Amino acid sequence: MDLTTFQRRPSVEVRIGEVRIGGEHPIAVQSMTNTDTNDTAASVAQIERIDRAGCPIVRLTAQGRREGENLKNIVAALRADGYQTAVVADIHFVPEVASIAAEAVDKVRINPGNYRTSNGELEALIEQCRERGVALRIGVNHGSLSKRIFDRYGDTPEGMVASAMEFLDVCHARQFDQVVVSMKSSNTRVMVAAYRLLVEAMEHAGYHYPIHLGVTEAGNGLEGRIKSAVGIGALLADGIGDTIRVSLTEAPENEIPTARLLVDHFGHRAGHFEVLHPERYSPTTYRRRSKIQIPVTHDEPHEGFRLLEALSENPTAELRAAILNLEQADEPVMVKRRYEDSSLEVVAVKAAADLGPLLLDGLADGVWIDAPQHDAEAIREVELMLLQAARLRFSHTEYIACPSCGRTLYDIEKTLAEIRAKTSHLSNLRIGVMGCIVNGPGEMADADYGYVGAAPGRITLYKGREVIERNIPQEEALDHLIALIKANGDWKEERA
Ligand code: SF4
Repeated sequence: MDLTTFQRRPSVEVRIGEVRIGGEHPIAVQSMTNTDTNDTAASVAQIERIDRAGCPIVRLTAQGRREGENLKNIVAALRADGYQTAVVADIHFVPEVASIAAEAVDKVRINPGNYRTSNGELEALIEQCRERGVALRIGVNHGSLSKRIFDRYGDTPEGMVASAMEFLDVCHARQFDQVVVSMKSSNTRVMVAAYRLLVEAMEHAGYHYPIHLGVTEAGNGLEGRIKSAVGIGALLADGIGDTIRVSLTEAPENEIPTARLLVDHFGHRAGHFEVLHPERYSPTTYRRRSKIQIPVTHDEPHEGFRLLEALSENPTAELRAAILNLEQADEPVMVKRRYEDSSLEVVAVKAAADLGPLLLDGLADGVWIDAPQHDAEAIREVELMLLQAARLRFSHTEYIACPSCGRTLYDIEKTLAEIRAKTSHLSNLRIGVMGCIVNGPGEMADADYGYVGAAPGRITLYKGREVIERNIPQEEALDHLIALIKANGDWKEERA
C-alpha cells in the first residue's frame, strides 16, 4: 500500500446554483445563518459576510410559510448585490414549506425524520426540484429519527442509514441524481460510524450521491474546532466527503477558516489507499485494542508503550497500517506527529484530523502532539480536548451547543459563556445548550442535562431526555440548572 496517496470516493456532480460539488470538484465548504429568516437585510448581510470569508454555500432555516416566502427576497437582494452564493433552505416538519422554498433557492434540505413520505410529497418535491434545477439534501440527524425507524433500530447509526436509504431509494427510482446526503451527530463515534455504514449501503445499491459532512452541536472555541476536526477528519482521511460544515456556536463566518484548513489539509493528497478497519464501523461492535488508561505527553513516550511517529504526508493511513501490522495485537500504542505551525488553532485542528481517527477507532492508546512552537501546558490541553472529542477520556465538561439559526430563542453565545463559567470544572458531564425546543431536545441526544429555548426569554430544563422544569424565565434558568445538577449529586465545588 502506498501511504503517501489518497483518493476520494467517486460521486456524481451535483449543481447548487453556480457551485458544483462531487465529481472532480474540490471539497466545498458550507455554513448557515443564525439571523431571523424574516429579516431580509440582516440575513443578506450575514450571507455576504460568510461568502466573503470563503464559503460559497449558505443555508437558512425556513420553519414556516412566512420564512419560506421570504427566501425569494433574500436571494433577489443577494443577486442585486452581485453575490452568487448558493442558497439552501433548511426544512423541518412542514413539507409545504419545502415546496415554497424550492421556488426560490438552489438547494432544499429535508430531514427524513420529520418529513412525511406516505402521501406523495417527496415525489412531488423531487419533480419540482428537477424542473427548477434545484438540488436536494437528505439530511439525517442522530436524535431526530422518525418513530417508525426509532422503534425498529433505536437511535443508532444503522437507523440513520435506513432512514436515508428510504429517501435515496425514492430519488433513485425517479432517476433524480441531484441529491446530497448527510448523517450528522454530536457524538463523533456515532457520526463516523453512520457515514461509513452509509457508504457501504450506497455502494451496495450502486448509488454515488455526494456526501456532506458535519458534527452537530460541536460547541465553540478550540474544543468545538477539535471536535469537528476529529469527526470530519476521520471521514476525509477515508476519502469520504464532498462538502463540509464546521458547526460552531459562534458567528458563522468564524467557521470558515477551520473548514478551509480541513479541506486544504486533505485536498492536496492524490492517489489511492485502502480503508483498513471495517469491523470497527459500528459503535455496537466498537472495541479498543488495549484497555490501558489513555495518557497524553509532550516530551517522552510512556513506559510500556510502543511509540509510532507519522512521517509521511498521509499520517492517519500510515499510523493505521503500522498499528494493524504490529505483531502483538494488544500492545499499547502512543501515536506522535510533529507540527511546526505557529498558530495553536492550526496545530489543534491538524492534529485532531490526523490523530483523532486513530483514537476514535480504538487503534491508539495515547497521543503526543510534538509542537515546538507552543508551551507544554497549551499542548496538554489540546491533547486532552482531542481525547475527549474522540470519546476516550473525559477530563472536562462537554457542551453540546447548537450553532444557532433563525429558530434560536436567546443569545446562545453569551449564554454558553455564562453556563461554561459556572460549570466547566464538572468533568464527566455533558450539558446540552440548545436554541429551540423544536430540534434541540432530539439533537442533544447524548447530554446529561439540557438547557433549551422554549419561547422568547423562556428556558426548559432537561435531565437526559426528561423535562424537569418548563418555561423558566431566562434570568433564573442558570441557577435552576445548577440546582438541578446539585440535586442529582453531579455537582462538585471548584478547587480554589
Ligand atoms: S437546535 Fe434549534 S436553534 Fe439550534 S440550530 Fe437546531 S434548529 Fe436552530
